[in-house]
Amino acid sequence: MTVAPRRVDRIVRDPRFDQLVPSGARLVPLADGGVWFEGPVYVPADDAVIWSDVRRNVVHRWSEADGVTDLHRPSDFSNGHTLDHDGHVLACEHGPRRIARYERDGTRTTVVDRYEGRRLNSPNDLVVASDGAIWFTDPPYGIIDDREGYKADSELDGCFVFRFDRATGDLTVATDLLVHPNGIAFSPDERTLYVSDTSRGVEAGHHHIVAFDVVEGRRLERPRVLKVIDPGVSDGFRIDVDGNIWTSAGDGIHVLDPDGTELGRVLLPETASNCAFGGADGRRLFITATSTLWSIEVGIRGAVTPWVDKATPAA
Ligand code: MG
Repeated sequence: MTVAPRRVDRIVRDPRFDQLVPSGARLVPLADGGVWFEGPVYVPADDAVIWSDVRRNVVHRWSEADGVTDLHRPSDFSNGHTLDHDGHVLACEHGPRRIARYERDGTRTTVVDRYEGRRLNSPNDLVVASDGAIWFTDPPYGIIDDREGYKADSELDGCFVFRFDRATGDLTVATDLLVHPNGIAFSPDERTLYVSDTSRGVEAGHHHIVAFDVVEGRRLERPRVLKVIDPGVSDGFRIDVDGNIWTSAGDGIHVLDPDGTELGRVLLPETASNCAFGGADGRRLFITATSTLWSIEVGIRGAVTPWVDKATPAA
């Protein structure tokens, strides 16, 4: 470990931010030396965080007891991760262009990899709703070149947000409105779905988060731009119990209230890609930022999913 712990460097936009990220909070590096760290998820039953180094084709695991280890090498260019209702890790894999499930025997199985018979682009990030449906984004980053997967043509007519009903096996397009949908999360009451569009860098693309009303748990209506993220893009984000949005950006983590008002920033020395709440009390934020995995104790819990208590070890 060449990176040292440091006192947090903040930008405060609103007094509420002082409760969320106290001025004396310490940023602690847990792992470094990565190429492009992404996709963190905390696994409560294991008291561990797992995350991907997408371009190195590895999924790492960190715990206080074991330090940094490899969970999967190669990882099939895994990117985003989350937990399902049974506590399994679900992974967005660019290589096989699928959503995979990490089984307890160490194998990985396909959850979904095709839409109407055609291959997905390269699933990037995902969230599980309380009804068990998996919502995921499918931009082209794993097929545009060989850095994060295998270069290939898209078989679809765009980059969609999908809803996969595990009970029926139905995969439906939730929206085709975004150019490159990427990060995805629900508000705590699941009445709002947030999805980022990170098509900036490809022509004059977007770098914003879009909010949708969720109707009857499956339809998206009334899309509106919640916030344009600058610098950088909102690659991934998580929601706290009050519905605030903790999003990655070019200079660190930006915290927005549910109306999109910026409350403040946690500044980092490298571009942040994603974050995840965890720890025994849910107040520890794990941040993937280019080459480093950081943690910081924050003043609020992550929005708790009702099934996390059932979560089982990642491997
Ligand atoms: Mg992403």
